[in-house]
Amino acid sequence: MKIGISACLVDYPYRYNAEDVSLESLKLLGREFELVPFCPEVSANLGVPREPIRFVKRNGGVYLLRTSDARPLYGRIKRAVLNFLKANPELRAFILKSKSPSCGIASAKVYKNLHSEEYYGRTWGILPKLLKGRNILIVEERYLLKERNYREFKEILQVLKGFYSEKSLSIFHRRFCRKLRELSPYWEKELRKSTDSPSFYKKVLLMLLSRRLNKLYP
Ligand code: SF4
Repeated sequence: MKIGISACLVDYPYRYNAEDVSLESLKLLGREFELVPFCPEVSANLGVPREPIRFVKRNGGVYLLRTSDARPLYGRIKRAVLNFLKANPELRAFILKSKSPSCGIASAKVYKNLHSEEYYGRTWGILPKLLKGRNILIVEERYLLKERNYREFKEILQVLKGFYSEKSLSIFHRRFCRKLRELSPYWEKELRKSTDSPSFYKKVLLMLLSRRLNKLYP
């Protein structure tokens, strides 16, 4: 099963300052799943090292700008992300680097201007925003640092892998009913009755798994 991951988390020193932020625990996931590393900013040919970019609120709108010359980069990065998603239609989950304007899930700061550290609030990075509505589970790496959360995340991935690899929904349900009951006794029963409705089953299963992932957040 394919899992996308912000490339800087697995041995690609692609941060704007080339800092190594890779995590051993995430690299180990590569033994059980096919990790697909991706960096929106390097794919948009911004290079390493590069000038940092940030969201800035101006004239009532929010813009993604290069700090050195205020060059707008949203469209360029968005194109790189869409090309990547088109070339990788089988991603089932994505692990994203927190706080990055390209990768953070609702954790990228919206600054008051290009050079001060004052900010208004936080917003979604380009990549997670474009992952919405594609049936891809998303999580930020910072919630997987605790051993308990990491274990739970791996269990969720195993359920997902079972779902996409098992030919029969009845067999899948029998294999994972204990986990499904743990996620929601009510929905486990409903799913048991719905193994002949694949689209309903998938929708509910992804809702349950995504709800469980959200609970990893403090
Ligand atoms: S754009 Fe994303 S993948 Fe690339 S270096 Fe920044 S956080 Fe990492």
